Formats: sequence, structure tokens, C-alpha cells
Amino acid sequence: MDFLEEELKKKLKFNLQEQEIIKKLGIKHEVFLPLLFSLKFGGNWSYKTKKDSVRLMAIKDKVTRYDPEEKLGHTLETIYLFSNPVVLKEEGRVLRLEKCSEKQEREIVKRPYKVVIDGEDIIKAVLDPSSLKIRVKHIQGPLTLEGSTAYGVSHEMDHLNESEGEERKCLWDFSYEINDS
Ligand SMILES: [Zn+2]
Repeated sequence: MDFLEEELKKKLKFNLQEQEIIKKLGIKHEVFLPLLFSLKFGGNWSYKTKKDSVRLMAIKDKVTRYDPEEKLGHTLETIYLFSNPVVLKEEGRVLRLEKCSEKQEREIVKRPYKVVIDGEDIIKAVLDPSSLKIRVKHIQGPLTLEGSTAYGVSHEMDHLNESEGEERKCLWDFSYEINDS
């Protein structure tokens, strides 16, 4: 068996597993898509299904487990997939520059530092590169997310609600200063 054939078989097997896990979770294939995108391409994704207009959002969190004695570690990726997400509470205001894949330039946005979020359904997937496992299950909301995951929720909710801030400042509004203190 040559390399290409082996590669192809692996991919087919992975795709079959995907179909199986979707069946076991009892969801429609298109509901799983943002989670799949987050696994395959990284980052957060949101999407509205055409047929049933379910609003979907996948938010990724990364945690590195590191042993300073052994100087070894691994980064776990946790993805939360929300069906029809609802933000119940926001706390704090953080000014930050963000880049959206839909736009050319980074813009200044205001994001909450903490969000409490729920959905009609929440699926949690944990990808562990040390065991080569992706553990998937339904979980109960609401969830409290902080920092980068809260910014991610706010960003994707803007897409789902189509409420992009009109007059956002971008990198070109900054000015340089010589810092000689
Ligand atoms: Zn975006």
C-alpha cells in the first residue's frame, strides 16, 4: 500500500467515525459543522442552518498542562458547540483589537470579560493530543466563560445577530509614540 492510499484510508475512516458520532449524539449533520470547522481549521465559528434556521456557534478554549519538573506538557482544546445560544449575563468591558476572517483589517472592539451563556443544546468536545482522543458529550448549561472565550462568544454572537458595530476604529487610527522614558 502506498502512502497516498494509506492517507486516503485514514481520512475515510475518520469521516465514517464522524458520521457515527453524529448519530450517537442524536443531532443533524449540519449542526455538527461549526465544531468540525473548529477541529479542522481552529478558532471559533458560527453559522445559521438554512432549513431550520438554527443558530450554531463553536467556541474554542485551550489549556496547556505542563510539568515543570519533567519539562513536558500538552495543550488540550475544548470546544463548546451551542445550538441557539443565549447570553444571560455579561460582566466587564475590555477594549481590544480583533481580526475577523470576513474583514481585511483589525478593528477596536469592546468585549465583556465574562459571559454566562446557555443554549437549547450544548456539546462539549475535548481534543487531547497526548492520547489522540476527541471526547464528545452533551452538557447542561448555563456556562460561565472568561477572557478569550468570552471575547469569542461576543464576536460570534455579533455575527449571528448581524449587529456589527458600525463605526469601529481600526489599526490606522492608532498613532506611534517614541517611548524614551
Ligand atoms: Zn468574525
